[in-house]
Amino acid sequence: MKMKGFAMLGIGKTGWIEKDVPACGPLDAIVKPVAVSPCTSDIHTVWEGAIGERKDMILGHEAVGEIVEVGSLVKDLKVGDKVIVPAITPDWGALESQAGYSMHSGGMLAGWKFSNFKDGVFAEYFHVNEADANLARLPEGVEAADAVMLSDMVPTGFHGVELADVQFGDTVCVIGIGPVGLMSVAGAALRGAGRLFAVGSRPNCIDVAKAYGATDIVNYREGDIVEQIMDKTNGKGVDKVIVAGGDAENTFVQAITMLKPGGRIGNVNYLGSGDYVRIPRAEWGCGMGHKVIAGGLMPGGRLRMEKLASLLETGRLDTSKLLTHRFNGFEHLEEALLLMKDKPKDLIKPVVII
Ligand code: NAD
Ligand code: ZN
Repeated sequence: MKMKGFAMLGIGKTGWIEKDVPACGPLDAIVKPVAVSPCTSDIHTVWEGAIGERKDMILGHEAVGEIVEVGSLVKDLKVGDKVIVPAITPDWGALESQAGYSMHSGGMLAGWKFSNFKDGVFAEYFHVNEADANLARLPEGVEAADAVMLSDMVPTGFHGVELADVQFGDTVCVIGIGPVGLMSVAGAALRGAGRLFAVGSRPNCIDVAKAYGATDIVNYREGDIVEQIMDKTNGKGVDKVIVAGGDAENTFVQAITMLKPGGRIGNVNYLGSGDYVRIPRAEWGCGMGHKVIAGGLMPGGRLRMEKLASLLETGRLDTSKLLTHRFNGFEHLEEALLLMKDKPKDLIKPVVII
C-alpha cells in the first residue's frame, strides 16, 4: 500500500512524495497522525544540512496519533488507541540505554530516529519501534494539539532545566525564548527557581515568558546581555544558565561570563553550523572555575511521556500558550513547516490537526 508524506528531497529541498506504508515488526506499531508540529530542528536538517545529506526522507518528529496496527508482541496498546509519540524513540535494550543514556542508544544521538535515520511523522502513516516502551496513551481530557508539545518542546525545554540542575531559589537565565526556551522558563519555575531571567526580543514570546514565570526580561537587541544581567544582579551573575537559542560563536561566551563559579549551563540548543564552540578562557576560570557545561538531547520513551502528560492532566502546565498558528488538514503541513523557516514575528509554534 502507498502513502503520501512531506519530505526532505535533499539539502535545501522539500516536497510531497509517495512511499510504501511502513511494515510493523513484532514489537512495533504503525500510527496515523492526529496532530503534528514542525520543529526548528527540521529547519536545521533541511536548510542547514546539519545532519548531512538525506534523500527523500519524510520529515517531522512531533506527533500525537492513533494506532492502526500493533505487532504480535505488543502488550499494552491496541488498534484505535490515541498516543503521544516522543521525538526520541530509543532501543531500550541497547547498552547505552542500560547505562542511562537511552537517547544515545546505538550511537551518539541515535535514539533520535524520526526524520534522521528513518521516515518521520509528516506522513499518512509512520512506524514506531518498541511501541510498549516508546508510546504513552493520550490521557482523557487532554487536547491532541496541546499534547503534541509533549513530543519535543516540553521534554527538551525541561531537559535544559535538568542539565542545569536548577534548585529552589536559584537565579536562572534562559537564553533564547522560542518554544523550547519558553518550556525551559516554565520548567525552571516548576523546579523552584527564584529570580528567572528570560533573554529574548519578540513581544509575544516575552508575554508568554512572563506568563510561564520569568521575573525579568533581558532584550538582546537593547545592549550586551551580560552587562544587563551583571547590572541587575549587583555584579554577581547567575547560578544557572539554560541555552535554548543563540550560536556556537557567542552564546557560550555570554553564558560562561554571566555564570557564578560553581554554576552550571544546560544546553539544549542544536548547534547547527560552525566547527567549534567558543569558550572564554579567563571567564572560565582559566579552566578552574567549576563552571560546568552540560548539553544533551532530550530523553524520550513512554515513562517520560506519561510523567509529562500528567502535568497537562493536572493543569500544572498549559502548553496551549505556545500554539500561535493552527491548521486543519494534512495538506497544510508544508505551509506550517515554511512558517517555522520564515519565523514571522507573531509565531511561536504551529500545529496541524489532521
Ligand atoms: P527557535 O528558533 O524558535 O528559538 C530560538 C530563539 O532564540 C529565537 O526566539 C531567537 O530569536 C533566539 N535567539 C537567537 N539568537 C539569540 C541570541 N544571540 N541571544 C538570545 N536569543 C537568541 O527554536 P526552538 O524551537 O525554541 O528550539 C531551540 C533550539 O533547540 C533549536 O536549535 C532546536 O533545533 C533545538 N532543539 C533541541 C532539542 C534537543 O533535544 N536538545 C530538541 C528540539 C529542539
Ligand atoms: Zn524537534
